[in-house]
Amino acid sequence: MSEKYSEKWYPAYEDLLELKNIWPFQVEDLFGGSGKYPLLNFRYGKGPRRIVFIARVHGHEPAGTSGTIAFLQSLVTKRDERLNNIEDNFTLDIIPMVNVDAALRYANVIPDSYAKNRFEENEEDYIEYKNIMTSPGRDLFNNLDMRENHLKPSTIAEMKSKEIPLGTLYNEQAVEIARDWKEQNARHTKTLTKFMQNKKPEYFIDIHCHERPTTLYVPYTEEIDEDIKALSNCGDKLLNILRSKNIPCTPNKKCTHYVVHGISNDYMYNNLGIKSFLWEINAGYKFPPSFKKVLGEDYLPRSLTRNEMTETVYELMLNFLHLQL
Ligand SMILES: [Zn+2]
Repeated sequence: MSEKYSEKWYPAYEDLLELKNIWPFQVEDLFGGSGKYPLLNFRYGKGPRRIVFIARVHGHEPAGTSGTIAFLQSLVTKRDERLNNIEDNFTLDIIPMVNVDAALRYANVIPDSYAKNRFEENEEDYIEYKNIMTSPGRDLFNNLDMRENHLKPSTIAEMKSKEIPLGTLYNEQAVEIARDWKEQNARHTKTLTKFMQNKKPEYFIDIHCHERPTTLYVPYTEEIDEDIKALSNCGDKLLNILRSKNIPCTPNKKCTHYVVHGISNDYMYNNLGIKSFLWEINAGYKFPPSFKKVLGEDYLPRSLTRNEMTETVYELMLNFLHLQL
Protein backbone atom coordinates (compact mmCIF):
# COMPACT_ATOMS: atom_id res chain seq x y z
CA MET A 1 0.00 0.00 0.00
CA SER A 2 1.25 3.46 -0.82
CA GLU A 3 2.49 5.58 2.06
CA LYS A 4 0.93 8.68 0.53
CA TYR A 5 -0.80 9.71 3.73
CA SER A 6 2.13 9.11 6.06
CA GLU A 7 4.47 12.00 5.45
CA LYS A 8 2.64 14.17 7.97
CA TRP A 9 1.50 11.29 10.11
CA TYR A 10 3.07 12.49 13.29
CA PRO A 11 0.19 14.73 14.28
CA ALA A 12 2.18 17.25 16.22
CA TYR A 13 0.57 20.46 17.24
CA GLU A 14 3.11 22.23 15.02
CA ASP A 15 1.60 20.54 11.94
CA LEU A 16 -1.71 22.09 12.79
CA LEU A 17 -0.20 25.56 13.16
CA GLU A 18 1.59 25.06 9.85
CA LEU A 19 -1.68 24.12 8.17
CA LYS A 20 -3.32 27.18 9.70
CA ASN A 21 -0.68 29.36 8.03
CA ILE A 22 -1.24 27.95 4.54
CA TRP A 23 -5.02 27.41 4.81
CA PRO A 24 -6.52 29.61 2.04
CA PHE A 25 -10.02 29.66 3.54
CA GLN A 26 -11.49 30.58 6.90
CA VAL A 27 -9.80 29.27 10.04
CA GLU A 28 -10.58 30.37 13.59
CA ASP A 29 -9.76 29.66 17.20
CA LEU A 30 -13.12 28.82 18.76
CA PHE A 31 -11.70 29.82 22.16
CA GLY A 32 -11.04 33.30 20.77
CA GLY A 33 -7.54 33.28 22.24
CA SER A 34 -8.69 32.53 25.78
CA GLY A 35 -7.56 28.88 25.96
CA LYS A 36 -4.24 27.38 26.97
CA TYR A 37 -4.10 26.25 23.31
CA PRO A 38 -6.40 27.30 20.46
CA LEU A 39 -9.35 25.18 19.39
CA LEU A 40 -8.70 25.47 15.66
CA ASN A 41 -11.61 25.11 13.27
CA PHE A 42 -10.94 24.91 9.53
CA ARG A 43 -13.89 25.84 7.33
CA TYR A 44 -14.31 24.72 3.73
CA GLY A 45 -17.03 25.08 1.11
CA LYS A 46 -20.01 27.31 0.43
CA GLY A 47 -22.73 24.68 0.15
CA PRO A 48 -26.02 24.65 2.00
CA ARG A 49 -25.35 21.48 4.02
CA ARG A 50 -23.20 22.01 7.10
CA ILE A 51 -21.22 19.14 8.59
CA VAL A 52 -18.92 19.28 11.63
CA PHE A 53 -16.03 16.85 12.21
CA ILE A 54 -14.05 16.85 15.44
CA ALA A 55 -11.04 14.70 16.41
CA ARG A 56 -8.51 14.03 19.18
CA VAL A 57 -10.76 14.45 22.19
CA HIS A 58 -8.47 11.84 23.80
CA GLY A 59 -4.76 12.67 23.57
CA HIS A 60 -3.60 9.13 22.74
CA GLU A 61 -5.87 8.78 19.68
CA PRO A 62 -3.96 10.31 16.75
CA ALA A 63 -5.86 8.87 13.73
CA GLY A 64 -8.51 11.58 13.69
CA THR A 65 -5.90 14.32 13.68
CA SER A 66 -3.76 12.77 10.94
CA GLY A 67 -6.84 11.84 8.87
CA THR A 68 -8.50 15.25 9.06
CA ILE A 69 -5.18 16.99 8.34
CA ALA A 70 -4.65 14.75 5.27
CA PHE A 71 -8.20 15.57 4.15
CA LEU A 72 -7.69 19.32 4.64
CA GLN A 73 -4.36 19.21 2.80
CA SER A 74 -6.05 17.44 -0.13
CA LEU A 75 -8.66 20.18 -0.26
CA VAL A 76 -5.85 22.72 -0.65
CA THR A 77 -3.73 20.78 -3.17
CA LYS A 78 -6.75 19.35 -5.05
CA ARG A 79 -4.75 16.13 -5.50
CA ASP A 80 -7.84 13.92 -5.21
CA GLU A 81 -10.51 14.52 -7.86
CA ARG A 82 -13.07 12.74 -5.70
CA LEU A 83 -13.12 15.95 -3.63
CA ASN A 84 -14.28 18.08 -6.57
CA ASN A 85 -17.97 18.31 -5.72
CA ILE A 86 -17.54 19.01 -2.00
CA GLU A 87 -17.18 22.79 -2.15
CA ASP A 88 -20.54 23.61 -3.76
CA ASN A 89 -22.61 21.13 -1.78
CA PHE A 90 -21.27 21.42 1.75
CA THR A 91 -19.92 23.79 4.34
CA LEU A 92 -17.48 21.76 6.42
CA ASP A 93 -16.17 22.70 9.86
CA ILE A 94 -13.21 20.48 10.73
CA ILE A 95 -11.51 20.55 14.14
CA PRO A 96 -8.52 18.16 13.96
CA MET A 97 -7.28 18.48 17.55
CA VAL A 98 -9.73 19.24 20.34
CA ASN A 99 -7.53 18.22 23.29
CA VAL A 100 -4.17 19.75 22.37
CA ASP A 101 -2.81 19.56 25.91
CA ALA A 102 -3.32 15.78 26.15
CA ALA A 103 -2.02 15.20 22.62
CA LEU A 104 1.20 16.97 23.57
CA ARG A 105 1.41 15.03 26.84
CA TYR A 106 1.03 11.79 24.87
CA ALA A 107 3.74 12.82 22.41
CA ASN A 108 6.03 13.39 25.39
CA VAL A 109 5.74 9.69 26.26
CA ILE A 110 5.32 8.22 22.76
CA PRO A 111 7.33 10.56 20.55
CA ASP A 112 5.74 9.53 17.24
CA SER A 113 2.31 8.94 18.83
CA TYR A 114 2.20 5.41 17.35
CA ALA A 115 1.72 2.98 20.24
CA LYS A 116 2.91 -0.12 18.41
CA ASN A 117 6.40 1.30 17.98
CA ARG A 118 6.69 1.29 21.74
CA PHE A 119 4.42 -1.51 23.02
CA GLU A 120 3.93 -5.17 22.16
CA GLU A 121 0.37 -6.48 22.11
CA ASN A 122 0.87 -8.56 25.25
CA GLU A 123 -0.57 -8.37 28.77
CA GLU A 124 2.39 -6.63 30.37
CA ASP A 125 2.77 -3.90 27.77
CA TYR A 126 -0.99 -3.38 27.61
CA ILE A 127 -0.97 -2.34 31.25
CA GLU A 128 1.79 0.16 30.54
CA TYR A 129 -0.13 1.46 27.53
CA LYS A 130 -3.30 1.85 29.56
CA ASN A 131 -1.41 3.58 32.37
CA ILE A 132 -0.59 6.46 30.05
CA MET A 133 -4.31 7.11 29.57
CA THR A 134 -5.49 6.54 33.12
CA SER A 135 -2.45 7.16 35.28
CA PRO A 136 -4.42 8.90 38.05
CA GLY A 137 -6.60 5.81 38.36
CA ARG A 138 -3.59 3.54 38.67
CA ASP A 139 -1.44 5.57 40.98
CA LEU A 140 -4.04 6.96 43.32
CA PHE A 141 -6.55 4.18 43.44
CA ASN A 142 -4.44 1.16 42.51
CA ASN A 143 -7.24 0.05 40.23
CA LEU A 144 -6.77 0.02 36.48
CA ASP A 145 -10.46 0.12 35.73
CA MET A 146 -11.00 3.17 37.89
CA ARG A 147 -11.90 5.98 35.55
CA GLU A 148 -13.29 9.19 36.94
CA ASN A 149 -14.44 11.66 34.33
CA HIS A 150 -13.95 14.68 36.57
CA LEU A 151 -11.06 14.51 38.96
CA LYS A 152 -11.72 16.21 42.27
CA PRO A 153 -9.55 19.21 43.20
CA SER A 154 -8.14 17.18 46.11
CA THR A 155 -7.17 14.41 43.69
CA ILE A 156 -5.50 16.88 41.35
CA ALA A 157 -3.62 18.41 44.30
CA GLU A 158 -2.48 14.96 45.44
CA MET A 159 -1.33 14.15 41.91
CA LYS A 160 0.65 17.36 41.71
CA SER A 161 2.35 16.70 45.04
CA LYS A 162 3.26 13.17 43.94
CA GLU A 163 4.28 14.36 40.46
CA ILE A 164 1.77 12.05 38.79
CA PRO A 165 1.00 13.16 35.24
CA LEU A 166 -2.59 13.50 34.06
CA GLY A 167 -3.79 10.59 31.98
CA THR A 168 -4.28 11.41 28.30
CA LEU A 169 -8.02 10.84 28.65
CA TYR A 170 -8.18 14.24 30.36
CA ASN A 171 -7.84 17.86 29.33
CA GLU A 172 -5.67 20.34 31.21
CA GLN A 173 -8.53 20.94 33.67
CA ALA A 174 -8.48 17.18 34.53
CA VAL A 175 -11.87 16.70 32.88
CA GLU A 176 -12.53 13.85 30.46
CA ILE A 177 -14.13 15.80 27.60
CA ALA A 178 -15.61 12.64 26.05
CA ARG A 179 -17.82 12.06 29.11
CA ASP A 180 -18.52 15.67 29.96
CA TRP A 181 -21.22 16.58 27.44
CA LYS A 182 -24.05 16.63 29.93
CA GLU A 183 -22.26 18.34 32.81
CA GLN A 184 -20.04 20.60 30.69
CA ASN A 185 -17.26 21.24 33.18
CA ALA A 186 -14.64 21.45 30.42
CA ARG A 187 -14.18 24.64 28.42
CA HIS A 188 -14.07 22.37 25.34
CA THR A 189 -17.57 20.93 25.76
CA LYS A 190 -19.02 24.36 26.60
CA THR A 191 -17.44 26.01 23.56
CA LEU A 192 -18.29 23.20 21.14
CA THR A 193 -21.90 23.04 22.33
CA LYS A 194 -22.30 26.79 21.82
CA PHE A 195 -20.77 26.44 18.36
CA MET A 196 -23.17 23.62 17.46
CA GLN A 197 -26.20 25.53 18.77
CA ASN A 198 -25.15 28.51 16.73
CA LYS A 199 -24.34 26.69 13.45
CA LYS A 200 -27.00 23.97 13.66
CA PRO A 201 -25.20 21.51 11.36
CA GLU A 202 -26.98 18.60 9.74
CA TYR A 203 -24.31 16.14 10.99
CA PHE A 204 -21.73 15.97 13.75
CA ILE A 205 -18.97 13.36 13.63
CA ASP A 206 -16.56 12.70 16.51
CA ILE A 207 -13.47 10.68 15.54
CA HIS A 208 -11.75 8.55 18.21
CA CYS A 209 -9.49 5.47 18.35
CA HIS A 210 -9.89 2.21 20.25
CA GLU A 211 -8.04 -1.06 20.72
CA ARG A 212 -10.56 -3.00 18.63
CA PRO A 213 -10.95 -3.02 14.86
CA THR A 214 -12.46 0.14 13.36
CA THR A 215 -16.18 0.38 14.25
CA LEU A 216 -18.79 3.11 13.70
CA TYR A 217 -21.47 4.05 16.24
CA VAL A 218 -24.82 5.87 16.07
CA PRO A 219 -26.44 7.77 18.99
CA TYR A 220 -28.13 5.88 21.78
CA THR A 221 -31.91 6.34 21.81
CA GLU A 222 -34.68 4.57 23.71
CA GLU A 223 -36.39 3.77 20.43
CA ILE A 224 -34.91 3.22 16.98
CA ASP A 225 -36.40 6.06 14.91
CA GLU A 226 -36.07 6.75 11.18
CA ASP A 227 -32.99 8.96 11.60
CA ILE A 228 -31.18 6.28 13.59
CA LYS A 229 -32.10 3.67 10.99
CA ALA A 230 -30.74 5.90 8.21
CA LEU A 231 -27.56 6.62 10.20
CA SER A 232 -27.00 2.90 10.87
CA ASN A 233 -27.53 2.17 7.22
CA CYS A 234 -25.01 4.83 6.24
CA GLY A 235 -22.51 3.45 8.79
CA ASP A 236 -22.89 -0.07 7.42
CA LYS A 237 -22.25 1.20 3.89
CA LEU A 238 -19.11 2.98 5.07
CA LEU A 239 -17.80 -0.17 6.75
CA ASN A 240 -18.44 -2.11 3.53
CA ILE A 241 -16.49 0.51 1.59
CA LEU A 242 -13.51 0.00 3.95
CA ARG A 243 -13.82 -3.78 3.48
CA SER A 244 -13.94 -3.39 -0.31
CA LYS A 245 -10.70 -1.39 -0.12
CA ASN A 246 -9.07 -4.03 2.11
CA ILE A 247 -8.67 -1.53 4.93
CA PRO A 248 -8.97 -3.67 8.09
CA CYS A 249 -12.10 -2.99 10.17
CA THR A 250 -14.68 -4.98 12.13
CA PRO A 251 -15.36 -8.17 10.11
CA ASN A 252 -19.12 -8.36 10.65
CA LYS A 253 -20.25 -5.88 13.25
CA LYS A 254 -23.20 -3.66 12.26
CA CYS A 255 -23.30 0.02 13.04
CA THR A 256 -25.08 0.32 16.40
CA HIS A 257 -24.86 2.50 19.54
CA TYR A 258 -21.82 2.62 21.81
CA VAL A 259 -21.75 0.72 25.09
CA VAL A 260 -21.40 3.90 27.21
CA HIS A 261 -24.35 6.29 26.97
CA GLY A 262 -24.16 10.09 27.17
CA ILE A 263 -21.16 10.55 24.90
CA SER A 264 -20.90 13.28 22.25
CA ASN A 265 -23.06 11.76 19.54
CA ASP A 266 -25.84 10.88 22.03
CA TYR A 267 -25.76 14.45 23.34
CA MET A 268 -25.82 16.05 19.90
CA TYR A 269 -28.72 13.91 18.74
CA ASN A 270 -30.86 13.76 21.86
CA ASN A 271 -30.26 17.31 23.14
CA LEU A 272 -29.57 19.36 20.01
CA GLY A 273 -31.34 17.28 17.34
CA ILE A 274 -28.19 16.89 15.23
CA LYS A 275 -27.59 13.59 13.41
CA SER A 276 -24.31 12.22 14.74
CA PHE A 277 -21.70 9.49 14.59
CA LEU A 278 -18.88 8.31 16.80
CA TRP A 279 -16.17 6.79 14.62
CA GLU A 280 -13.73 4.57 16.52
CA ILE A 281 -10.64 3.87 14.41
CA ASN A 282 -8.27 1.07 15.40
CA ALA A 283 -5.56 2.71 17.52
CA GLY A 284 -2.66 1.06 15.71
CA TYR A 285 -2.65 -1.21 18.75
CA LYS A 286 -5.00 -3.96 19.86
CA PHE A 287 -6.00 -5.66 23.08
CA PRO A 288 -3.74 -8.53 24.25
CA PRO A 289 -4.75 -12.23 23.93
CA SER A 290 -6.74 -12.20 27.21
CA PHE A 291 -9.45 -10.27 25.30
CA LYS A 292 -9.77 -12.97 22.63
CA LYS A 293 -12.92 -14.51 24.06
CA VAL A 294 -14.68 -11.21 24.73
CA LEU A 295 -13.89 -9.82 21.28
CA GLY A 296 -14.69 -12.98 19.29
CA GLU A 297 -14.32 -12.24 15.58
CA ASP A 298 -13.25 -8.70 16.38
CA TYR A 299 -10.02 -10.12 17.77
CA LEU A 300 -8.94 -11.32 14.33
CA PRO A 301 -8.06 -8.15 12.36
CA ARG A 302 -4.49 -6.94 12.82
CA SER A 303 -3.73 -3.45 14.07
CA LEU A 304 -3.60 -0.70 11.48
CA THR A 305 -0.35 0.78 10.24
CA ARG A 306 0.04 4.53 10.67
CA ASN A 307 -0.76 4.99 7.00
CA GLU A 308 -3.90 2.88 7.27
CA MET A 309 -5.12 4.83 10.30
CA THR A 310 -4.91 8.06 8.32
CA GLU A 311 -6.33 6.46 5.20
CA THR A 312 -9.28 5.03 7.16
CA VAL A 313 -10.31 8.48 8.40
CA TYR A 314 -9.70 10.07 5.01
CA GLU A 315 -11.81 7.47 3.17
CA LEU A 316 -14.57 7.56 5.79
CA MET A 317 -14.85 11.36 5.53
CA LEU A 318 -14.80 11.40 1.75
CA ASN A 319 -17.22 8.50 1.30
CA PHE A 320 -19.55 9.80 4.00
CA LEU A 321 -19.86 13.06 2.04
CA HIS A 322 -20.39 11.18 -1.22
CA LEU A 323 -23.15 9.09 0.35
CA GLN A 324 -24.93 12.36 1.24
CA LEU A 325 -24.98 13.63 -2.38
ZN1 LIG B 1 -11.49 8.21 22.57
